[in-house]
Amino acid sequence: METHIAILPSPGMGHLIPLTELAHQLLLHRRLFITFIIPTATGSPIKPQNDILNAMPENISSIFLPPVSLNDIPEDSALETRISLTLTRSLPALRQTLTELTRDSVRKKPSALVVDVFGPLSFEIAKEFHIPAYLFCTVSAMTLVSFFQIPILDQKYACEYKDLPEPVRLPGCVPVRGSDMIEPVQDKTNEAYLQMVEMTKMYSLAEGILVNSFLELEPGPFKAMEEGDWCKPEIYSVGPLIRAGSENRTGEGFECLKWLDKQDVGSVLFVSFGSGGTLSQMQLNELAFGLEQSGQRFLWVIKSPHQKSNASYFNAKSHLDPFGFLPDGFLARIKDRGLVVSCWAPQVEILSHGSTGGFLTHCGWNSILESLVCGVPMIAWPLFAEQKMNSVLLTDGLGVAHRVKVDGNGVVGRDEISKFVKSLIEGEDGRKMRSKMSELKGLGAMALSQDGSSTRSLLNVAQKWCE
Ligand code: UDP
Repeated sequence: METHIAILPSPGMGHLIPLTELAHQLLLHRRLFITFIIPTATGSPIKPQNDILNAMPENISSIFLPPVSLNDIPEDSALETRISLTLTRSLPALRQTLTELTRDSVRKKPSALVVDVFGPLSFEIAKEFHIPAYLFCTVSAMTLVSFFQIPILDQKYACEYKDLPEPVRLPGCVPVRGSDMIEPVQDKTNEAYLQMVEMTKMYSLAEGILVNSFLELEPGPFKAMEEGDWCKPEIYSVGPLIRAGSENRTGEGFECLKWLDKQDVGSVLFVSFGSGGTLSQMQLNELAFGLEQSGQRFLWVIKSPHQKSNASYFNAKSHLDPFGFLPDGFLARIKDRGLVVSCWAPQVEILSHGSTGGFLTHCGWNSILESLVCGVPMIAWPLFAEQKMNSVLLTDGLGVAHRVKVDGNGVVGRDEISKFVKSLIEGEDGRKMRSKMSELKGLGAMALSQDGSSTRSLLNVAQKWCE
């Protein structure tokens, strides 16, 4: 009988997408049944979620847990608090689902429960069923090191991270300014901080941790985890796992690929802030003027403005029609060299298109890996979660991105934007970063090749599950 694996993605496309890709990779190497058990706080699944789940092969099925309510918590609760609560409140339904799966004569009891970075909250339940719990780290190895270090740093520093006079030296990682550490630790008075300290302590309870990165990209953090006594679980580097582009290039959202077909090779800057990133109205204006001023070609995925930088995280939607928020006459002025797309675009297909020469990104880890696999250099514009730390890796660590500077008003100005866009697409800096990116692309492909480091790691862990 085939081995059965259960996967529990926490809310957010940035968690679901790499976990589904992990499932695809596992099926390439082993005969398995995989069940996605999906907690939700939004009611019915959102379209990009449905598109991905509907395209799964028949050995992968999904069960949506009953939606939980978050109506009793303040509107301005931290994103991490909302995600953690969704998971915590879904635990009874997870227990019920595992009971049913365990009784199912076809699928039988899962041999492993695979969860993502918020998943340790479910370890207790896995233990009740004697199912080994594995963590799939949807962020960089450097961020994983920071997770392990958070409880240790909590004991070491009493002040806020932003007030530290020296950069934080995480084992094996490039130094990080305190203010660039992950967002939920930035305010120690917020409940999200305590939740993070408690959750990261649970990382040591995982049977193993699969990381969506590869040894050759982040040798320092992987070595530090192998050698440090603070890292108990076995670490498996299995990346870069990114969603494969769609063969079917028709339908909503794919029109922009036809537009890209008509542009010169490497001439277009792709601008996107991920599934949930949002800008303020003032920032949206500056970005529009900066792109216009740069004189370069661009493809911009836009959402309506919001004061919160992650306002679309749970639904990947634009709250209002975004086009009405652009400066007067903007679309008419840029129509010969720019295209603006509302809300969601086929990112992997865009990054792998020959006309795309640069990516202005919010530095979500999936976006970074997708850019890397396609060899596209970046402008780093981090917004929330661990994105600032990712941008430090890209700039100081790997030298494949420029990071924008936010001024005293919390805004990146049009002159700065225009300068970076020009430099990335047609400047000497852009050429150097492109060449470095192409080296990393080669290393990434090698890690996933038949005898590559990530393939070997994935086979090792899959072997454990199938024993
Ligand atoms: N994505 C996409 N089209 C969009 C926005 C996002 O396909 O218009 C995909 C993107 O390719 C990536 C994921 O959504 O796989 C976003 O994950 P990431 O970690 O980059 O950022 P998050 O959205 O979690 O902040």
